[in-house]
Amino acid sequence: MRPYPGRLAALCLIGSLQAQALIVAPVNGGIAAVALPDSDSRPQVSYLGHPVLVSGQAPHWRAIVGIPLDRPAGIEHLDEMAPLTQSIPFPIGHKAYPEQHITLSDHHMVDPTPAQLTRIHRELTEEKADFALFDGQQPPLRIDHLPVTATALDSAFGLRRFFNGEERAPHSGLDLKAREGQMVTTPLPGRVVLGRELYFNGGTVIVDHGQGLVSMYCHLSHIDVQPGEMLAAGAELGRAGHSGRATGPHLHWSMSLNDVRIDPALLLSDDLRRQLGLDH
Ligand SMILES: [Zn+2]
Repeated sequence: MRPYPGRLAALCLIGSLQAQALIVAPVNGGIAAVALPDSDSRPQVSYLGHPVLVSGQAPHWRAIVGIPLDRPAGIEHLDEMAPLTQSIPFPIGHKAYPEQHITLSDHHMVDPTPAQLTRIHRELTEEKADFALFDGQQPPLRIDHLPVTATALDSAFGLRRFFNGEERAPHSGLDLKAREGQMVTTPLPGRVVLGRELYFNGGTVIVDHGQGLVSMYCHLSHIDVQPGEMLAAGAELGRAGHSGRATGPHLHWSMSLNDVRIDPALLLSDDLRRQLGLDH
C-alpha cells in the first residue's frame, strides 16, 4: 500500500445545479470517493452493511464513503445492489492519529456505576440508530460556516484518548472553542432527530441531513430544537456549554456518513480550514 500523501487531494464533485467540493481522504476516519459504473439510474451501494451516499448525475456516479477509524489499510469493497449486483473494490491507506491525555476529577465520567452504564448503553443504542438513518435528498457536501462563529480548533478528530491514564474510544468528532452560552447553529439543512441530555455527551442535538449524512452537537447548556423540526443552514440549535464529560465549555461536533464518524474538517471550505489552522 502506497503511504497516504501528507497533502490531501481535493476533488470537485460537480452536480447539475451546484458545485460541491469535499476533501477526499481515503484513510481510516476519512472519506473515499469511488467511481461507479455508468448507469441511467442512481446506483444503490452499501459498505459494511450500511447504505452509502451516491453523488452525481446520470450516467456518472460516485459513492461517497465514510471509513471507520479502526479500519486497517488495504482493499475495501462496496456492494452494489442495483442496477447491477457486484462488488466494487477500492484501496484505503492508514492515517496515524496522535494521543491525547485528559484528567477528569469526576471519576464517574471514567468508571461509571452499573446503573450509569445501563443508561449509557441505552443512549448509545439510540445514538447509533440515529446515525444509521438513510433517507431524504442528497445533502450539500461542503460546509461554508461553522456551528460556532469566531472560533478555533480545540481538539482534532481521531485523537487516541486516555482519561486518567485509561484508554477509551478515540475522539469521534472535532472540538471547537466556544464560550458558555454561545449560539450553536447547524452548518447544513436537516431534520432534528434528537435533542436532549445524554450521560457522556451532555446536552445533545443530532441532525439528519439526508442520505446517511448526520451531525451531532454535544455539551450544550441549552437546547432550542425538538425532534422532527426541519432546519435551514444557519438555524440555531442551542447554546454551547460544558455538560456531560467535558473539562470546560466547548462544542463537540461529529459528522457521520454511512453510520461512520468521519473528520468534519474534510467537509469544510478552504476559508474555514484556514481559519482553524488545518493543513490543506
Ligand atoms: Zn469532542
